[in-house]
Amino acid sequence: MQHKQQTDFDIIVLGGGLIGATLALILQQQGKSVLLVEKAPPTTKLTSLTQSWDARIYAISPANQQLLNKLGVWPAERVQPVSRMEVHGDTNGHISFDAASVKVPYLNYMLENRYLLARIWLALVETDVTTVQSKPQMISTDVWSAQLTLENGSSYRSQLLIGADGAQSWLRQQAGITVNVSPYQQQGLVANFNTEKYHHGCAYQWFSHGDILAYLPLPGHQISIVWSTASADKLSHLNGEDFACKVAEAGNYQLGELCPITPVFAFDLIKRQPQTIISQRIALIGDAAHTVHPLAGQGVNLGFADVEYLSQLLAHADDLGSWSLLRQYQRSRLLAVRTMQQGCDGLFRLFANNYLPGISWLRNQGMNMVNNLDSLKNQLTRQAMGL
Ligand SMILES: Cc1cc2nc3c(=O)[nH]c(=O)nc-3n(C[C@H](O)[C@H](O)[C@H](O)COP(=O)(O)OP(=O)(O)OC[C@H]3O[C@@H](n4cnc5c(N)ncnc54)[C@H](O)[C@@H]3O)c2cc1C
Repeated sequence: MQHKQQTDFDIIVLGGGLIGATLALILQQQGKSVLLVEKAPPTTKLTSLTQSWDARIYAISPANQQLLNKLGVWPAERVQPVSRMEVHGDTNGHISFDAASVKVPYLNYMLENRYLLARIWLALVETDVTTVQSKPQMISTDVWSAQLTLENGSSYRSQLLIGADGAQSWLRQQAGITVNVSPYQQQGLVANFNTEKYHHGCAYQWFSHGDILAYLPLPGHQISIVWSTASADKLSHLNGEDFACKVAEAGNYQLGELCPITPVFAFDLIKRQPQTIISQRIALIGDAAHTVHPLAGQGVNLGFADVEYLSQLLAHADDLGSWSLLRQYQRSRLLAVRTMQQGCDGLFRLFANNYLPGISWLRNQGMNMVNNLDSLKNQLTRQAMGL
């Protein structure tokens, strides 16, 4: 007898990156029937992933660490907790953030994209989430449901269709949602290095003539860097050793000499603000709903916060894609996301501005002033940690 393929689901998630896969897992654990559509499922062979390090490393906030821990996907290994952060301005400005001063063990946790993703996909298989490897071809929605037709010819229906298909979201485009796109005229460079000196769980950041360089600690004598720079073209064409010298020099040899352990990877820095993140029977999450300058390491954290809020709304809803539920999701997330985008934008522009007389003195004195105001500094720290 031929087994009839299931075509009706409570929810369809398009895109199985960190954000879409996490939401699919939570909703399935809530007892909903979920279909996850992903064009390129990741490898789940953990042993092959431990042979090297992924250059895409995230600073996961404690709030999101708790979320992933509750789901049972937080790894016990290949994680580096961060207990301190030192930020340097372009002259004598300096702020330091300490986990102890806000009475938490760590400010955040450094973790690889592909290792976490593999663990989430392994959990998807264990919880019987239906996954399909394909691309979408067409959507249609009415007041009750959304229908998704894939390139492989299959068609599926659900009460709600989630767009977790990344910054260039196909679903966002199909829903006719326009996006305000603001490029930063810079690229981000990421790479990992062995360091001469140990980092002691401290992250460093330097603002210098519009460039922003971050050293993010990894287990052992290793770091990952994110360098937002207008000179990315020139720097990314250097050989590994020459690039390592430039990174060590730009970081004032804080951790001594550096030795490359991954190639350099470059990506465009763009702020994206869709005019809405909902449409009839559709909600956008993660990079499909927003992208942000990486200077505060909040891109993926904003996505996890979308997941947490939307999954709470859906937990006890009768109609999973009702307009009132979607409006509630949009109201809450748009404000939080726009606040973070404006904050990162403001900081970026403050340090990129070298034309106004006295601006350099002001911004560096400002940093020193904040550094001496414990209550303001602690409030900023707690906000960045999602507490
Ligand atoms: C190099 C790099 C470094 C970064 N570093 C940081 C950092 O340090 N800190 C930080 O917070 N953020 C960082 N970010 C941003 C962060 O990666 C994103 O915010 C996060 O990955 C968003 O996750 P997502 O699941 O929404 O999107 P994505 O990770 O883009 O996942 C989208 C998924 O959808 C799938 N998909 C796309 N289109 C289709 C389609 N048509 N059909 C089927 N499937 C589809 C894709 O294959 C992918 O699996 C970095 C980004 C890059 C590129």
